[in-house]
Formats: sequence, structure tokens, C-alpha cells
Amino acid sequence: MPHDDPNHPHSLLPSDPALRVKALETILTRKGLVDPAALDTIIDTYENKIGPRNGAQVVARAWLDPAFKAALLQDATAVVADLGFYGRQGEHMVAVENTAETHNMVVCTLCSCYPWPLLGIPPGWYKSDAYRARAVREPRAVLADFGVTLPEETAVRVWDSTAEVRYLVLPRRPEGTGHMDEAALMDLITRDSMIGTGLAVTP
Ligand code: FE
Repeated sequence: MPHDDPNHPHSLLPSDPALRVKALETILTRKGLVDPAALDTIIDTYENKIGPRNGAQVVARAWLDPAFKAALLQDATAVVADLGFYGRQGEHMVAVENTAETHNMVVCTLCSCYPWPLLGIPPGWYKSDAYRARAVREPRAVLADFGVTLPEETAVRVWDSTAEVRYLVLPRRPEGTGHMDEAALMDLITRDSMIGTGLAVTP
């Protein structure tokens, strides 16, 4: 019996983890144990601030320091651990560099593996069935959906994350940024540019 059959007992349970989370959050809020505004702040912090800022620091440093970049491409796990970025979901990191010849893009086709210590919590779309299915099958169409169009001669390489290996994309450094220091460069490095669904911002 299919699980979307309304008579199937499984359909009595929330089919989506989001529903379960919402139910828990509602109960905890009613009991006065959590403040929804505080929860939103925490999630926003991990999703948009702390996480991607760590990755952006790594990328900016790689843009500025060729020896650092070489070491990063050689053994990203060790290099980012030296910066203090390690922990769950970041045990084995691999950095892949975008060039004129190759654009790298990361997916987890099985679930949602993601380099938490460098990028924070994965965005909703990263976990979606659509992204996971299409990233491998039609990466250029997915990139177009993100507003990214690459030259024909640039090959797109898709990396499938696993429980063992997490990838960090080193986006290309935009033109006209030769004078910028690490802090200024970091502002150009978006989360999506480090997943490969975006490009670094041209100032
Ligand atoms: Fe996964």
C-alpha cells in the first residue's frame, strides 16, 4: 500500500521532518520553554552568519596567499582545522578550485551532507529532492535556476558528498579585487559560491 494513501496508517504521522519539528516547537513554546524569536535568531546565525563566514575566511585567504591555497587543495581538513574550523560534519574536507576550465558544484544525492564547520546549516534547497536529483543530471539547468551562466568551454564537475567527505568550492576571485584585503574579500564570498551554485560577487 503506498504511503500517500490516506487509509494507510503511516499517513497519520507527519510525513515531513519539518512537521515534527514544528509540532515540537509549538509544544515547547506553549510550555514557555523556548522563545520562537530566539530560535529564529539562532537558526539565522548558523545558517547565514557564523557558518558561511568561516568558509569565506578560508576562501579569502586562499585568494591572497598561494602557499595557503596550495596547502588547502592538498589537505583541506588539516588546514581548516588549524584555523579552528572543525567538528561534526567536517571531519574530512576536500577543497576544489574553480577555474576558467572547470566549475565545481556540490550536492549530496543521498541526503544532505554538508561542511557544517565552514558553511553552517545547509539551506533548504540543498536538502530538496529536486536539487539532489537534478544537480547530477542537469547541472547547467540547475545553475541557470540560480542565475549562473557559464561559458560553453567551462566544464561543470559535480561532487557528491558522502558521510566521509565534504567539499568546499573555492570560487574564482572576481576581477578588480587586487587591492582588497581579507575582510573586504570575505564580503564577496557568498555561501552559494562555496557550494558552487553561485559565483563570488564582483564589486
Ligand atoms: Fe548526505
